[in-house]
Amino acid sequence: MYLKLKKDVSEEEQSRLEEFLKLHNYRFYKLKDREHLKYILIKKEIEDINDLLKFRFVEKVKKIVKPFKIVNREVKKESTIIEIKGRKIGGDNLVVMAGPCSIENKEMIFKIAKCVKEAGGEFLRGGAFKPRTSPYDFQGLGEEGLKYMREACDKYDLIMITEVMDTQEIELIDKYTDIFQIGTRNMQNFSLLKEIGKKTKKPILLKRGMSATIREFLMAAEYIAASGNDKIILCERGIRTFETATRNTVDINGIAILKEKTHLPIIIDASHGTGKRSLVEPVTLGCLMAGANGAMLEVHENPCCAISDADQTIDFDSFKTLMKKIEKVMELKRSLKCI
Ligand code: PEP
Ligand code: MN
Repeated sequence: MYLKLKKDVSEEEQSRLEEFLKLHNYRFYKLKDREHLKYILIKKEIEDINDLLKFRFVEKVKKIVKPFKIVNREVKKESTIIEIKGRKIGGDNLVVMAGPCSIENKEMIFKIAKCVKEAGGEFLRGGAFKPRTSPYDFQGLGEEGLKYMREACDKYDLIMITEVMDTQEIELIDKYTDIFQIGTRNMQNFSLLKEIGKKTKKPILLKRGMSATIREFLMAAEYIAASGNDKIILCERGIRTFETATRNTVDINGIAILKEKTHLPIIIDASHGTGKRSLVEPVTLGCLMAGANGAMLEVHENPCCAISDADQTIDFDSFKTLMKKIEKVMELKRSLKCI
């Protein structure tokens, strides 16, 4: 259930309402939708709506039928725009998060950061803690990698995004990063989702589980929001299907339906989504037109030699060309009003 408050509700009235809710064992989450404050209420027992209607400043009380509440577009019609260091993720802005799959050494991350900046990118991605299928593969540089990446971001004024795999790494990574990434393999790691929601107010990019339905994806986001952090960016990174021609299958329907179901911004990662560098550009552009608010791209000076995900990584020239096309897509989307 949610409450929509009248525009002129005072601070004092909000406190009164909150006290009432606590007294009656409601868990509540507050959010702003255009001019109105809304309270999402969760209660185990049967709710008595009449109790809530007695406040003069309550305009509407409505039941939320869907299992996801805080991230639900029915509750918050306005699309969420996440602001970080003066940059906006969501709305009619398209963001690009680019960088290597893994941070390999200091020199490489600096070169990539320079390229990302020069091409007009604002976010540097890169893994220091890597989820690898084989325990014998490169597992990432750990804290050393985080340090290099932070320095590169500071030098080139870029926003850092890196993956957290475990609850025990949150504090360490928090010292360096601007945005946390939760990878596909951890989308339903509920301990991690709950802990990250509690421990940080920084934005969290949540990747879709490789076999997760849209409902499961949204429920994973709801876990983070219910734990206290609603700055969530969804990332479609392809799912497993019967198709073997590509590493994964990008669910373009998923992007369009997510736009209907949630107010959260959505990013397309066509690097992991396709697994093939020649497909990264067309799939990225298609998904941006379908509603994605930005793209994540794996970029390397010499992609063939990348330690991880070489086949899906693009080189600097391809990245620069793609950036120019993304600019054009942004203008097109704005002029067609398909945001
Ligand atoms: C990555 O971003 O490098 C990564 C491991 O992503 P995913 O979780 O989508 O496989
Ligand atoms: Mn990767």
